[in-house]
Amino acid sequence: MKIAIVGGGLGGLSAAITLAKEGADVRLFEQNRHFGGKMMAVDEQGYHFDFGPNTITMPDVFRDVVKQGGLHPDEELPFAKITHHTRNEFKDGMVFDFSTDKAYMKEQLAMVDPKGYRHYDSFLEEIERLYEMSEKHFLHRTFSGFKDYLSPTLARSMTQVRPLESMNHFFKKYFSHPNIIQALNRYSTYIGSNPYQAPATFSMIAHLEWNDGVFFVRGGNTKIAESFVKAAENVGVHLYSGTKVTHIYSSKGSVQGVETSEGDYYEADHVIVNGDLLHAVPELIHESERSKMPDKKLQSMDPSISAFVVMAGLDTKISRLKHHHLLFSHDYKREFNVLKHGYYADDPTIYLCTSSKSDPSVSPEGDNCFILVNAPALPNHQFDKEAYKSHIYDLLGEAGLPIKHHIRYEKVMDPHDIKNTFGAYRGSLYGPSSNSRMQAFMRPFNKSQDMDGLWFCGGSTHPGGGSPMVVLSGQNVANQILGKIVHIE
Ligand SMILES: Cc1cc2nc3c(=O)[nH]c(=O)nc-3n(C[C@H](O)[C@H](O)[C@H](O)COP(=O)(O)OP(=O)(O)OC[C@H]3O[C@@H](n4cnc5c(N)ncnc54)[C@H](O)[C@@H]3O)c2cc1C
Repeated sequence: MKIAIVGGGLGGLSAAITLAKEGADVRLFEQNRHFGGKMMAVDEQGYHFDFGPNTITMPDVFRDVVKQGGLHPDEELPFAKITHHTRNEFKDGMVFDFSTDKAYMKEQLAMVDPKGYRHYDSFLEEIERLYEMSEKHFLHRTFSGFKDYLSPTLARSMTQVRPLESMNHFFKKYFSHPNIIQALNRYSTYIGSNPYQAPATFSMIAHLEWNDGVFFVRGGNTKIAESFVKAAENVGVHLYSGTKVTHIYSSKGSVQGVETSEGDYYEADHVIVNGDLLHAVPELIHESERSKMPDKKLQSMDPSISAFVVMAGLDTKISRLKHHHLLFSHDYKREFNVLKHGYYADDPTIYLCTSSKSDPSVSPEGDNCFILVNAPALPNHQFDKEAYKSHIYDLLGEAGLPIKHHIRYEKVMDPHDIKNTFGAYRGSLYGPSSNSRMQAFMRPFNKSQDMDGLWFCGGSTHPGGGSPMVVLSGQNVANQILGKIVHIE
């Protein structure tokens, strides 16, 4: 069986490994020089930055892929857990740490949020239930068409995952302090969405961080992508870097093969598109060959949010900084409203990841600050990259983090860079947003409805964005091609 994979992100690599391990002849084409897609190492002047996934959850998902590639997961991926994993700072001076240490969480809640203190245990149970329902019914399957949603089991389970209430509404049932609710609402950004619109189903993300934990890989999270490449080579995947797929050919409704930027043609029984579907499909397939995915339909989808990122290598270590550190905006609702209308927030929530706090080896000389604020998907209103960067530094300075006086290395990436580097539709991080119920539960299907043998994996399709999810997506598609997924109706 011949397989061509368009894109070497985590989704494409994981699909490649599973298929090649079962004897398929797999060719994977990546337009960039590096594999791993948005999980991209930036190594400059003694500083390592993980562009993309900084917060790692569900480590077993990554371990499984490495194991399939015949490698030893503990050797390849030395995961470590951070117990008090996220420092949340608010404009009123309050500081609240998210942690998997239950006694510590209760101690903090007792002081600031008596309702949250009382409901903490039941909250943990409910988010775990939401996760388990999702895991059972959504995470390990592909979606091929609307008939998939007609399964009675799935329909029943869908009604049980709080699809009709927003994340913000759900969190308010358990907590009363606006700061705690704001910090929880931030989980909607993990799927590029707005907490006042996205269904409460996605509150299951809190389960991953509050119950299971936040992890990092010693030596850099980008070791995940490196280990996937090693695993892929180990099982015989043909990897082509710096090679763009320029066209997907079909005949009589079945895929035939792909053409690359080198002018080569490769026959394929199956083609898996890992690049952002909303961008790749119009680029690679004539509109006349995709009646179920015309340009108009693709363009009508609301994109997930993008990011404005500054990677700053410092000549010092700022002791106040934690590995995952947030400075929340004054008015979260306003921040999302501003983004929705294509503007950058003047009072944005700022996320800093300084992995050198847990692993000094990644940046021995000074801190490696990965600074991220939410950004609108393109096109956005007039925007000055330099001025916005200075504004972020000023806000950090006001919060007691004098980063701008200590910069030795700096790299900025905005939505244009994200679009151009990864082929991300309108610079969005995860393809379509999950703001509406329709888009949240009916993401573009994994199997093309237009062409036999054409599949989609990665953040823009099922089960959704976030690095463990895209890895599952690749696995699900591979298993479906191998005939290993049997849907329980
Ligand atoms: C700033 C930022 C922060 C993030 N933070 C986190 C986090 O903390 N935790 C987390 O879990 N996730 C995070 N994510 C999300 C995570 O990075 C993505 O969900 C995941 O890496 C996407 O993987 P993917 O397989 O869907 O595709 P991608 O990584 O998008 O890879 C697709 C690849 O396809 C290639 N491609 C596209 N078209 C073609 C073509 N025609 N020919 C050849 N190649 C092509 C692209 O170049 C790209 O490399 C973050 C993302 C960003 C950008």
